[in-house]
Amino acid sequence: MKRVALIGATGSIGKQALEIIGAHPELELVAAASGSQDIDGLAPLTQVGGDLTELLEQAQPDVVLNAVVGFAGLPATLWALERGVTLALANKESLVAAGDLALSARERGGGLLLPVDSEHSAAFQCLEGRALETVESLVLTASGGPFRGRTREELEGVTRADALAHPTWQMGPKITVDSATLANKGLELIEAHFLFGVPYEQIEVVIHPSSIVHSLVRFRDGAALAHLGYPDMSVPISFALTYPERAATDVPQLDLAAGLTLEFAAPDVETFPLLALARGAGEAGGTHPAVFNAANEVAVAAFLEGRLPFLGIAEVVEATLAAADGAPARDLAELVEADSDARRLASEGVLVS
Ligand code: NAD
Ligand code: MG
Repeated sequence: MKRVALIGATGSIGKQALEIIGAHPELELVAAASGSQDIDGLAPLTQVGGDLTELLEQAQPDVVLNAVVGFAGLPATLWALERGVTLALANKESLVAAGDLALSARERGGGLLLPVDSEHSAAFQCLEGRALETVESLVLTASGGPFRGRTREELEGVTRADALAHPTWQMGPKITVDSATLANKGLELIEAHFLFGVPYEQIEVVIHPSSIVHSLVRFRDGAALAHLGYPDMSVPISFALTYPERAATDVPQLDLAAGLTLEFAAPDVETFPLLALARGAGEAGGTHPAVFNAANEVAVAAFLEGRLPFLGIAEVVEATLAAADGAPARDLAELVEADSDARRLASEGVLVS
């Protein structure tokens, strides 16, 4: 029996996780949390908003599935890592913003950190049991989002509805916009660096429109291992919740006989500058990734509310990164301060743009 705490239970990942938990008698939902929606009766212990570590403390789960969106997921991530409680992590923003602090917490806690992000679940599986010195590079695939192939001029007037029409994945609004700007792949680049301890120059991003290959790992002997499957988050959620058993899912097997063509291309970093900005922030280290994340959260929220044009998202993030000092955070209080400062700068940036 595995006792699961699901936080972010009302979201896209949260709902899919509930189905998986419901279908597996060995998974017991002991606690659930949401940001604002009422979830009475969903689990023996529930909480809406507030400090989610209170719920986790009460529930004492074996696994925390963190499916909260944004920096708000950080306390739960640190709670699990610090205590050695298995963390199934969908909330990439917490690892991006607090990478160094999260890794020290994991070292002290000694528990498992299992990625739920599809690319990272794939890379985790391709890397499992292999020595890092045999790895040449990680390759994260990106669908390219709804605006793949467009020029900057063609992106000037795009609307919220245009950005929310993702070609291959059904997801919450924030990550869907991040996929349209490629900020999501930027966050994933930083996420991969912290998860796998691979330097940035050994993490590549490639456009792969059909989202069949979820990641590849290249090895020094010229071999590359890839993880394939139809784009369905049930697979990485189930993998993380039932690890190391790899329980069955009802996701169909790839139909190879029907003809499967895999296309790859280089990303257009000129049109989608957030990918390069994320790489720069990751390489600069310190709180630069936290600043990137905070500014992006503020800008995406403004875009979704109609207060910022699509191209303004990257402009606000770039200006915020340039204005913030990015000095390393020695503790959580300093990180929270860097996050708040970046949010303030980004909000000012939204107002003037
Ligand atoms: P969503 O917007 O659909 O759901 C977000 C959930 O977080 C909701 O349950 C909401 O109530 C909760 N929440 C928001 N703010 C909160 C707060 N302050 N305190 C507590 N709970 C709060 O988002 P999603 O698409 O399910 O994404 C969740 C996370 O998973 C994100 O970090 C995203 O990047 C990651 N992810 C999602 C997908 C996907 O397919 N949706 C794929 C890969 C990674
Ligand atoms: Mg992903």
